[in-house]
Amino acid sequence: AQLSAGARRHLRQACDRLGITVLEHTEVEAVEAARVLCTDGTALASDATVWTAGFAVSPIAAAGGLEVTDTGRIVVDRTMQSVSHPNVYAAGDSAYVVGDNGRPLPMSCASAGYTGMQATAAIVGRLTGRTIPNTKLEYLGNHISLGRRDAILQMVDDEAQAKQNYVGGRKAARIKAGILKMSLWTTSHPTFGLPRRRHHLAPVPNGSADKAIAHSEKTAA
Ligand SMILES: Cc1cc2nc3c(=O)[nH]c(=O)nc-3n(C[C@H](O)[C@H](O)[C@H](O)COP(=O)(O)OP(=O)(O)OC[C@H]3O[C@@H](n4cnc5c(N)ncnc54)[C@H](O)[C@@H]3O)c2cc1C
Repeated sequence: AQLSAGARRHLRQACDRLGITVLEHTEVEAVEAARVLCTDGTALASDATVWTAGFAVSPIAAAGGLEVTDTGRIVVDRTMQSVSHPNVYAAGDSAYVVGDNGRPLPMSCASAGYTGMQATAAIVGRLTGRTIPNTKLEYLGNHISLGRRDAILQMVDDEAQAKQNYVGGRKAARIKAGILKMSLWTTSHPTFGLPRRRHHLAPVPNGSADKAIAHSEKTAA
């Protein structure tokens, strides 16, 4: 549903090419060792079932008493600070964040990068007494790998709706490969791009860091 008509056609053709049978409007009721049971009574034989019906977050935040959504994501403000526990910051899939377009950001690595950046800026800003910048909280689109030589890159508009055009085929696969290479590189160079120059740590003028630590110790006690 999040793809343009053209990208959907592309995806159907790729499934045909790869020998994938797509069953639409079919709801799964139960998964057993050797079959999948559907609500319409159909039983599909299966040697291996890969469940891909969406992401879920750990129940640890809800169990810890943080304010969470009914899916367990931590509710945060624009600076990624928990609305119920000011000493807790959340980023990535675990955070329920309203993006710049006024809609909740989906769980994705694309959003996790932005929310991580905002959380870092907020923590550094509060600890140094500096103004906290509003970094971007955008969601630009979906990128689907369809093998080494095919992919779909679907950009979305400000309303998070698929734009009419999409990038498909080898070009989209090359872009995806580049993103994966860059991700691996940044994993092995974790300090690259850290805002060291712009945000030198400085003494806190009003002792707010000490107060924050004292508050967290008091709360923990
Ligand atoms: C198969 C697959 C394909 C995906 N493809 C895409 C894609 O193409 N594009 C896209 O945008 N997104 C994609 N995603 C989603 C993307 O990976 C996530 O949205 C993103 O990684 C979220 O980042 P994160 O830092 O919030 O969580 P994660 O990257 O999941 O990191 C969470 C970390 O917390 C650790 N952790 C968990 N519980 C605890 C605990 N109790 N104590 C300590 N540590 C803990 C975990 O070990 C993990 O290292 C994909 C996800 C999957 C599973």
